[in-house]
Amino acid sequence: MPRNPLRESLEAGRFCHVVEIVASRISREARLLHVAAQLAVTPGVVAGSITSYAGGSAGQDPVRVGTAAKARGLTPNIHVTCVSKDRRELREMLHTISDLDIENVFALTGDYPKGSTPVFDMDSVELVTLMNELRQNEGLQLWIAVAVTPFKYTEPDCVYQYLKLEKKFAAGADYAITQLGFDAKKFAELRRYLDDHGIQKPVLGNVYVLGLKAAEKMSKGEPPGCWVAPELVEKIRAETKAKDSGEAARLERAARMVAILRGMGYAGAYIGGTHKAEHVRWIIERGQQLAPQWEELASELSYSPKSAFYMYEPSTAPRLAPLGWRERAVNAFWHVPSPKRIPEGGVLHKLAKTVFGWIDHRPSLARSLERAEFAVKSPAFGCQSCGNCVIPDMQYVCPQTCPKQLRNGPCGGTNNGQCEVIPERSCIWVKVYERAKAANELESLKVYIPPPDRSLKGTSAWINYFLNRDSRPGRPKLGAPTPTPAPIKEESKIKVAVPQ
Ligand code: SF4
Repeated sequence: MPRNPLRESLEAGRFCHVVEIVASRISREARLLHVAAQLAVTPGVVAGSITSYAGGSAGQDPVRVGTAAKARGLTPNIHVTCVSKDRRELREMLHTISDLDIENVFALTGDYPKGSTPVFDMDSVELVTLMNELRQNEGLQLWIAVAVTPFKYTEPDCVYQYLKLEKKFAAGADYAITQLGFDAKKFAELRRYLDDHGIQKPVLGNVYVLGLKAAEKMSKGEPPGCWVAPELVEKIRAETKAKDSGEAARLERAARMVAILRGMGYAGAYIGGTHKAEHVRWIIERGQQLAPQWEELASELSYSPKSAFYMYEPSTAPRLAPLGWRERAVNAFWHVPSPKRIPEGGVLHKLAKTVFGWIDHRPSLARSLERAEFAVKSPAFGCQSCGNCVIPDMQYVCPQTCPKQLRNGPCGGTNNGQCEVIPERSCIWVKVYERAKAANELESLKVYIPPPDRSLKGTSAWINYFLNRDSRPGRPKLGAPTPTPAPIKEESKIKVAVPQ
């Protein structure tokens, strides 16, 4: 495997810079490769991160663009998303990447695609688990990046991003890259969360060269997960009145963010919003010059919404309302008939296994049981009869009701608790979080949930559970990747202190 300057820098603790190359459909490949060749000789740049499905639009094949960029001397970091490939196709893609001597992969769920039907067979935590399994069992050399979005301003959205990051690291991720944002307090919050939980994995902070057009789009939450405060949009609008249309101002802002990340102890900067190597070179040099003033610069970079939740700072967001008695009653009720309450191997479990085994051998009876389950669970949870029921592991919320069918926490596209795909609806993970917090079960949200065995669709989940046919925590199945669970350290236990 050729040298990997990205891995080397992160392992050596040397602050480094990765530049995002947006391989969208409209960008000409020749132009992208010219950019790659220039970045390959830009001091401080250790890799080019090749996007896939950026903003939900299918772009160029990141593996092909990455291979060509590598041929021009730029180490690629390939974005691998769950949007359009199922687990077998993702496994093949990872083998291809490895066969091409490319080590760096960026595991993402991906934005919901525009104009095409998504696959979403797996989520990003399951994808990391697959990558790690290929590394351990099939010897693939993969250096795995994952995403985290600290710029979330409601408690469920924010805390669940950090919970999910812990799951990604536990599944085998090597380092993380933040989503873009312009709030130094959130960069500091993520840093502190990792320190408080004893997590020493490197994190790159996102530094986006923000122009007016992009700022206006992002102030409306486009692409999903990216948000810019109206005050910053107005500031950039004023800057565009300058002779250079605001270019110097936006490069200076980017350089200041690099300085802040250096000061806060981030492992590097993930630079986006420009393909110009001369811009990148200037940002890197200026960022180094400004580093000694990072605290002053951090106090200036504070673009947050009026209502904002912070874990360690005074929040302007309303406190999480305690669950109503109805919600508590319903939640408590559903905990009763859960197969998980029957101790495995016990008399009752053996009896259940015998009974369900008997039903299983009588197809029409098994079908009737499935229909009966569905008749109860569909109105109660939005059940879609996937055959791999994991609602006991998700506070009685069904993952199939998530448009991306995520099983390990929210995507980065949540917008103040609203769903990225169906904005008029709340993200399902808000309820999962609220119920878990009310039941003092936040730790249980760190349990890895494997992808379902899709061949069980339309069959009885109870039969599948007792006959160990389904794919569930502790029993991943059907090519479902198997994580090597990392022991939960005392200091990593979740403690959400809402400042007075
Ligand atoms: S329900 Fe939540 S996790 Fe699922 S797509 Fe919507 S925002 Fe993302």
